[in-house]
Amino acid sequence: MSTLWAGVVRQTAPAERRVAVVPTAVAGLRGAGFEVLVQAGAGAGARYTDQDYTDAGASVLSEEDLYARADVLLSVTAPDPAVLRLLRPGQALMGLLRPLAEPRLIRDLAAAGITAISLDGVPRTLSRAQTMDALSSQASVAGYKAVIVAAEAYDRYLPLLMTAAGVARPAQILVLGAGVAGLQAIATAHRLGAVVSGYDVRPEAQEEIRSLGADTLDLPAVTEATASGGYARALTGDEQRTQREALAAVMGRFDIVIATAQVLGGPPPLLVDEDALRALRPGAVAVDLASGPLGGNVYGSRPGETTYTKNGVAVIGAAELAATVPRAASEAYARNIGALLTHMTREGRLHIDLDDEIQAGVVITHEGGVMHPAAAKAVAALAPDSDEPPDTHTAADTTLDGGGYGPRSA
Ligand code: NAD
Repeated sequence: MSTLWAGVVRQTAPAERRVAVVPTAVAGLRGAGFEVLVQAGAGAGARYTDQDYTDAGASVLSEEDLYARADVLLSVTAPDPAVLRLLRPGQALMGLLRPLAEPRLIRDLAAAGITAISLDGVPRTLSRAQTMDALSSQASVAGYKAVIVAAEAYDRYLPLLMTAAGVARPAQILVLGAGVAGLQAIATAHRLGAVVSGYDVRPEAQEEIRSLGADTLDLPAVTEATASGGYARALTGDEQRTQREALAAVMGRFDIVIATAQVLGGPPPLLVDEDALRALRPGAVAVDLASGPLGGNVYGSRPGETTYTKNGVAVIGAAELAATVPRAASEAYARNIGALLTHMTREGRLHIDLDDEIQAGVVITHEGGVMHPAAAKAVAALAPDSDEPPDTHTAADTTLDGGGYGPRSA
């Protein structure tokens, strides 16, 4: 039986400290019939040494040798386009490739004959795909870290403390959006002793919020806000206005706001507007996990930056928090990518089968073509032979940060 050679690449994106396969996952991959190659220094951001990988049974190679020998390259995020020159037709690249946000990369991977497989497309609600759901595993890490980041920036305690020097009241924390990241933020804030409220437009999220010991925020109801796959739909202009006004009216009650709301196939909704920010007291903290090039949930948040409003509220643009907890995030990601790789391999070879529901979601390019309809649409919107991004309207319609890219019919 032939053996599939899996190559773990070193991530190159700034501030990216995760690695696609951790040393403790190597034995499992070898047991499943893979040989594991690792680019020198691949684990450094998460403090795994090359020796750790060698001890676990992997071979550590230079970048050139890795790309020359691997059948499948395993990555966390999309690689730098410069590595395209190292890839050869028939090779596969697996990672969170964000195909709708990166149509030029997808076009180039297809043209180079690479099979691009993106974990963003794993069907979220299919129970047999749960071990492969990297969006959830990484969102969970981000939701946890959001509370730590908020606590660090906050100028009081989170729990109720009764000491000889007096009583400190607990922090009031509001979590906006109760998907995977939001629910983990609620659970973490609750464990740290804060008084937590959660808010989401999906009716089914209300019970999940309460089951974690948090209160639900009673705002004017938005009806039928669930779209396909359990995702929230974009609200109408009127609904958004009503929602923002209602949030601004209650904002003065909270010390910390953690915002995690995303809408499938569109920019994140603005929830905390200028009025709401003004309603927060000096020293309050707003952490915006949705902060990105298309906007965010909190007015004025800038990805990767902390800014302060005139009234002394810290606004933290925290788009890539999973990368700041690199060991936990990499351990979980390694299980996700290992499960997907195993699912797609038969007798030591990648077995591409678009009739399989999981593969239909994750296979983006194969044998020179863009196989995923939504990605094909994004690539088609690119100007021919151009390095320019597609026109802004189309890009905003098809780009999603951290929320998957929906069914193949999208
Ligand atoms: P997401 O990142 O797309 O969005 C985060 C949250 O923001 C969602 O809960 C959404 O309802 C909420 N939101 C959107 N617009 C809002 C607004 N205007 N105001 C308030 N909240 C708003 O969500 P996600 O974490 O990727 O999860 C998406 C869906 O997938 C959820 O229904 C989740 O339960 C489901 N899911 C299911 C499984 C499973 O069944 N195994 C696994 C993961 C996720």
